[in-house]
Amino acid sequence: MLQYQIIPVTHYQQNCTLLWCDETGDAALVDPGGDTARILAVVAEKAVRLCKILLTHGHMDHIGGTAELVAQLQLPVIGPHPDDQFWIDLLPQQAQMMGFTPVAGFSPDQWLGHGDKVMLGKQALEVLHCPGHTPGHVIFYSRSAQLALVGDVLFKGSIGRTDFPRGNHAELINAIRTRVLPLGDEVRFIPGHGPMSTLGHERVTNPFVADKHYG
Ligand SMILES: [Zn+2]
Ligand SMILES: [Zn+2]
Repeated sequence: MLQYQIIPVTHYQQNCTLLWCDETGDAALVDPGGDTARILAVVAEKAVRLCKILLTHGHMDHIGGTAELVAQLQLPVIGPHPDDQFWIDLLPQQAQMMGFTPVAGFSPDQWLGHGDKVMLGKQALEVLHCPGHTPGHVIFYSRSAQLALVGDVLFKGSIGRTDFPRGNHAELINAIRTRVLPLGDEVRFIPGHGPMSTLGHERVTNPFVADKHYG
């Protein structure tokens, strides 16, 4: 089975998630935004074997700890979609704008596209390209665990901001309505910030994407 532990990091309380296959012990960090010592303490506590870093999108609060972890552990970096390369290239400027201490840059070892699959031990994660918050935002979906890691696409009661360069509100709504919500009402999701929810709860109550606004 796929297991998870949410680790809030940085002053943005970004949800870094440790995911692992409990049959093999293979683990991945999704969106290690910073506070790497804290992240590694959780990895040690769970006694899992870190194999890769997965990124949903190129914003600082989600990728800020990546270079440090790669330097320490030589982990491959997978994702996001190549349309977010400009955000990763802007890491120094993002650090300055968002009040982070400067961090080293990096290049993903593998970009992701819609329909890709990422394996974690015996567990498959399906990749869905969900642009709008950023053009290259992807989400990770485990069909067997009925769990999605949606980054800054969807939050409990809200959706991602689209007022950044190359943000697009209509595209974001479209991605949520046509790609995320159809995964099913029972699917639980871990957003990039804040508490977990289910897609069914958002489909009924979320003021931005609920069915009643799209009869
Ligand atoms: Zn973001
Ligand atoms: Zn964020």
